[in-house]
Amino acid sequence: MITEEAVLKALTNVDDPDLGKDLVTLNMVKDIKIDDKQVSFTVELTTPACPMKDMIRSACVNAVKIFVDKEAQVTVNMTARVNTNRKDGGAILPGVKNIIAVASGKGGVGKSTISTNLALALAQEGAKVGILDADIYGPSTPMMFGLQGERPMMRDVDGKGMIEPVERFGVKVMSIGLLVDEKQAVIWRGPMATSALRQFISDVYWGELDYLILDLPPGTGDIHLTMVQTIPVTGAVIVTTPQAVAMADAKKAMMMFKQGQINVPILGVVENMAYFTPAELPDNKYYIFGKQGGQHLAEQFEVPFLGEIPIVQSIREGGDKGFPAVLNDEPVSKKAFTDMAAAVARNVAMRNANLDPSRVSAIKLN
Ligand code: ADP
Repeated sequence: MITEEAVLKALTNVDDPDLGKDLVTLNMVKDIKIDDKQVSFTVELTTPACPMKDMIRSACVNAVKIFVDKEAQVTVNMTARVNTNRKDGGAILPGVKNIIAVASGKGGVGKSTISTNLALALAQEGAKVGILDADIYGPSTPMMFGLQGERPMMRDVDGKGMIEPVERFGVKVMSIGLLVDEKQAVIWRGPMATSALRQFISDVYWGELDYLILDLPPGTGDIHLTMVQTIPVTGAVIVTTPQAVAMADAKKAMMMFKQGQINVPILGVVENMAYFTPAELPDNKYYIFGKQGGQHLAEQFEVPFLGEIPIVQSIREGGDKGFPAVLNDEPVSKKAFTDMAAAVARNVAMRNANLDPSRVSAIKLN
């Protein structure tokens, strides 16, 4: 007779390859049901877009057949519950499991395009996602999500008036561009901008989120310090193009996150505008800005390479018309963004399993 204990013991032989421990130790096996030779259970992974889902599923089936009963008929339901590693008390962004900062050294390399499509690709995999546009001098998220002219609603949360993000394509969106005219945001300087941003962060009601994508302004200025000092950032995604000037600035951004007092883990590097592909000749790749610069940068800093995004006309058009490329069925850009999002989610899960809890940085601002 097959027992629950025997099934669990068998599944101690199946590892989550990213987390390096077995599924039972990781408490991922749920809801075991046994009816004679029929065995079913749920495996709860830590990322919604796990690229090793099928491999883990067949390893589970094999383990039960080998270690319990070779005639067992095994059904494995694969689900996901995104993990978290916050020990900051949850005073800010309380229901948010992971905060992913998207940064670049240089402007115009496609940081907002990557942030937007990353948020949407994670949501398409079933995760609860928000995006906070912290680029207060040039907020582009409202345009990319087709939200120009929209204004968020207020909501009462435990007696406090809070701003409710605007929901679009299944993602919660908040940008300073939704609150004030773009022209008004641009005149903010130094302390005024940082205090507005800090208040803006504490006054938005996000509810429960698996991932909050933080679209940072380009560069390495006061806004960045305010963010890491206010928000327990899970990790940073660095966006660069393969050009030498972009990579030199990307290096500065990486050095900033690595700095002792800031110490935000770098989840990896995304190379945007990696090559140009004409729609009618999808196998032809033209490396206009140089080749594999992002990969070399990732190697140099010993961080993961999260993917390359080609230059595709529909990516630019999607951003301009408020319908981002990952929502389209154009296969080249869709696959590039989906693979990148899976790599980001996977590295968040590994970061949470292996590194210290995320916390706000101790760095002091004047
Ligand atoms: P940043 O946030 O770094 O300033 P944006 O995301 O606003 O950059 O991108 C700058 C411009 O380049 C936008 O018009 C955007 O649509 C376009 N763009 C970004 N990435 C790509 C790409 N891979 N292919 C085509 N156009 C792109």
